[in-house]
Amino acid sequence: MVPVVQLFARDVPELPFPAGTDVLQVLWCPLIHNDEAGAALPKVYWRSEQTVAEGRVLSDPPAPYEHEEEFMPRPCTVTPTRAVEYPNRDLPGDLVQNLSQRFDEIEEAFGSSYYEMATTAQSKAGGYPGWLQQPDWPDCHCGRRMDHLLSITATEPVEGRWFPLDEKGPASPDASRGPMADHTVVDTIGHGMAMGDLGGVYLFVCPACPDMPYTHRYDC
Ligand SMILES: [Zn+2]
Ligand SMILES: [Zn+2]
Repeated sequence: MVPVVQLFARDVPELPFPAGTDVLQVLWCPLIHNDEAGAALPKVYWRSEQTVAEGRVLSDPPAPYEHEEEFMPRPCTVTPTRAVEYPNRDLPGDLVQNLSQRFDEIEEAFGSSYYEMATTAQSKAGGYPGWLQQPDWPDCHCGRRMDHLLSITATEPVEGRWFPLDEKGPASPDASRGPMADHTVVDTIGHGMAMGDLGGVYLFVCPACPDMPYTHRYDC
């Protein structure tokens, strides 16, 4: 198993944490599995920061003896930015029809489409999965549709609205596109996993069930 992401409740208090826990850790087995998703196999742990801090930390963590390069994250940090996201493929078809004129007006006025401005495919906690294929929300065994917990995706924005300002490279020659990354910078951003053809692993939970069941989808 390799560590994929660790989030603290103090950074993302909107996420569900079981009582007594304040750290969310996602690990996965970095091989391609012969299950429905056909990708790395994630495992989610909710822990207490105090207990983790009191424990021993290995100075030389073991590396898996075999792994798929596309699911093997390189060490990196996250700097969460809070944003309001709107649905992409989860928008009902008739609503897309009704809003199409307003979408055109937005694109005319701001030079970016609704999808570029209001939805994002990058790694995120909360919001909507950045479905590349048709939405495939899992149901919990209690009958409830599960909530999107977080997504780990291969796509990192290198320009435009979602480009992290602290990674800003030289100014773009086309000012309307906003800041653009220096390519040597882009190559160093994030976990570096290709995840198939720039796909993503989406994790879902049911906070209504006491044992907080979770599952995942792989989209590519
Ligand atoms: Zn495995
Ligand atoms: Zn449930």
